[in-house]
Amino acid sequence: MLLNAAILIGTVLVMEVVAWAVHKYVMHGPGWGWHRSHHEEHDDVLEKNDLYAVLFAGLALLLVVFSPGRGPLYWIGIGMSVYGALYFFVHDGLVHQRWPFRYVPRNGYLKRLVQAHRLHHAVEGRDGCVSFGFLYAPPVRRLKDELRQSGAPLARDSET
Ligand SMILES: [Zn+2]
Ligand SMILES: [Zn+2]
Repeated sequence: MLLNAAILIGTVLVMEVVAWAVHKYVMHGPGWGWHRSHHEEHDDVLEKNDLYAVLFAGLALLLVVFSPGRGPLYWIGIGMSVYGALYFFVHDGLVHQRWPFRYVPRNGYLKRLVQAHRLHHAVEGRDGCVSFGFLYAPPVRRLKDELRQSGAPLARDSET
């Protein structure tokens, strides 16, 4: 029981590192073809970028459904699912408001997460972006410094 809880929580933490790395090195690298849709203005409900979420969800589902017994792989799958839910809440909900109501956190850590990801979107295009994580964000001031130093072209509607 305790071990399973540790595997679950550990998976959520590792997933943040994995998501950060995939976002920085794959999605803003060779995988930009799918991710670009998320960095461009549009009125569509879905984005090609959502395929990344589908891919991760599919992987988690495979682990949960096909792992023998309720062993470690099962709990890794559950951890991935929990991470996915948190990611959706923070990224698609709080930041991009893809839910049918409006709620923007005005203070605390959630506000910092939202500001940090807005800074990720402050850059025009694929290169020179900052803040690739989703559930952990460095202090906003540090990100703004990083952004200034990168000298990347800023998007017109950015609030920095
Ligand atoms: Zn991005
Ligand atoms: Zn985003």
